[in-house]
Amino acid sequence: ARSLVDGYLTAHPGGGWLDPLSTADLLESYGLPLTTTVWARDEPTASAAATALRTRGHEGKVALKAYWPGQVHKSAAGAVRTGLADDAEVRSAYREFVRRFGAELAGAVVQPMAAPGVELLAGVVQDQVFGPLVVLGLGGTATEVLADRAARLAPLSERDLTTMVTELRSAPMLLGQNGETAVDLAALRSVLTRLSRLAEDFPELAEADLNPVIVRPDGAVCVDARVRLE
Ligand code: ADP
Ligand code: MG
Repeated sequence: ARSLVDGYLTAHPGGGWLDPLSTADLLESYGLPLTTTVWARDEPTASAAATALRTRGHEGKVALKAYWPGQVHKSAAGAVRTGLADDAEVRSAYREFVRRFGAELAGAVVQPMAAPGVELLAGVVQDQVFGPLVVLGLGGTATEVLADRAARLAPLSERDLTTMVTELRSAPMLLGQNGETAVDLAALRSVLTRLSRLAEDFPELAEADLNPVIVRPDGAVCVDARVRLE
């Protein structure tokens, strides 16, 4: 992780957003549960990667996401295709990216489809005065609309880990209600703890945004992450 961060900041002295694979490397080195993410620079590579990953995806499906440096909100730009069920769908989605994004398109990432669950966001932001804050909230498409969030200074205490979850308005969706099963709270706490450790170890981590982390009764997996170094 140290050599990745130093290498990036040497090449980009002003800082910036890591590409998808460096992001995955950094987060995975802290044990954060990112879904398998394979880089594809063209249609044949995307097709081959999707064929290999399809068996691991929920209902045998994959997601394909266009990437170009400096991208912000992928779905709003038409850069995310989910639930692709066969090779023809993957290839036509890739060709659509080429048509839509032209020379800007650097490639795409292929991921297995994760099983549905509650979409949360987990991340790190820097407070000018107090340093890194770990954030937990409702994620996915509800992120901006509901702005349901809890934040605590790193390092997180055991009590922080508990209250960050319970103070969310969405807490009943996580803790189990009306006889529903609770999500895997240990997996969720582990995500927050690992983010806290990463933020403590790297003051260069200006921003980390894992959205969504899909939490289910049987675990948690992140399918989209962004990291900015400074
Ligand atoms: P962005 O946030 O940049 O628009 P995401 O990668 O988060 O792009 O994708 C948008 C939404 O698509 C996610 O919130 C999630 O609902 C769904 N999604 C993306 N990738 C996957 C995946 N691998 N498995 C299941 N759902 C996914
Ligand atoms: Mg996202």
